[in-house]
Amino acid sequence: MEKNEFEDYVKSGKVLQEVQKNAVKKAKVGVKLLELAETIEKEILDLEAGMAFPVNLSLNNIAAHYTPSFKDETLIEEKDVLKIDIGVEVEGFIADASVTMDFSGENGKLVEASEKALENVLSMVKVGTPLGKIGEEIEKTILSYGFKPVENLTGHGLMKYIAHSSPSIPNIAKNDSRAIEDGKAYAIEPFASNGEGRIKEGSQSEIFEFSKAIPLRNLDARKIQEKSIIEFNGLPFAERWLIKEFGETKTKIALRELIGKSSIRMHPILKEDSNVLISQAEHTIVCFEEKIHITTQPKAKD
Ligand code: MN
Ligand code: MN
Repeated sequence: MEKNEFEDYVKSGKVLQEVQKNAVKKAKVGVKLLELAETIEKEILDLEAGMAFPVNLSLNNIAAHYTPSFKDETLIEEKDVLKIDIGVEVEGFIADASVTMDFSGENGKLVEASEKALENVLSMVKVGTPLGKIGEEIEKTILSYGFKPVENLTGHGLMKYIAHSSPSIPNIAKNDSRAIEDGKAYAIEPFASNGEGRIKEGSQSEIFEFSKAIPLRNLDARKIQEKSIIEFNGLPFAERWLIKEFGETKTKIALRELIGKSSIRMHPILKEDSNVLISQAEHTIVCFEEKIHITTQPKAKD
C-alpha cells in the first residue's frame, strides 16, 4: 500500500466519523428514515467525499441492505433497534462502519454484545491474526451475552472502489487459517441476534450494483449502465438516486431491463423472522507498515 493510499483511507475514515456522529444525533423517534438517509448522504458529499454505498438504515429483524426507497414513509419508533451503516470513499479508498441505536432502552445488552465482540477483536487483531480466530472471538463474546452471532453474515476485505472483496471474515469460529495481511484493509462487523442467527434474503431490493457492460437499445438503460460504471465507479447505488434524475417510471423500466440482462445486480435486504432483533457493530481497519489502524474510530489522543 502506498503512503497516499493509506492517507486516503485515513481521510475517508475521518469523514465517516464526523458523519456518523451527526447521524446518531439526528436519529430520534419520529424521524423519517428517508430524511435521515438523505441528510447523511448529503453530508458525505459536502465533506468532499463519496458514498461507498447507499446509507443502510436497517431496523429490528433486518440485519443489512435496507436503504429507504424514494417514497419511504417509515418513521423511527420507540420500539426500534436501528443499524446505521455508512460507507465513505476518498479516491476509491473506503471506510465502512456501523452503530446500532436502541430507542426503547430495553435492548442495551443486544447492542452491547456486538459492540463488545468488535472491541475484543480490535484489541487482539494484528498482522498475521488468522481469520478463524477473529470469528472465534466474536462468537464467544456474543454467546456470553446469551445471543447468537449471525453466522451467514461476515466482515470482508476492502479494495479501491470495491466495497466487499475477499476474504470474508467469519462471525463464528471457523477453521480459516488465512490471516490479516499488511497492506490491506478490512471491515470487521459482528452481528448479534436474539433469534436463530441466520439471515435470509427478503423480496425487497433498493440497492443495486454494476455487474457487466452489455449493449443496450433503451436510452435510459444505457445512461444508467454508464452511470453505474463511471459515476458510481462500480460501487453499490440506490434506486432513489436514479429516480431523482430519471423519474420513477423510466428508472423502474430501465432497471428491470438491466437486471434481466445481468448488467446490474440487486442487493436484497437481509433479515431474520419479524419477531427477531439484530444489532451490528463495525469498524474499518487498515494495515499499514505492519500496524493496525482503526480508521473509523477516533484515536485516544484526539
Ligand atoms: Mn457496513
Ligand atoms: Mn461492511
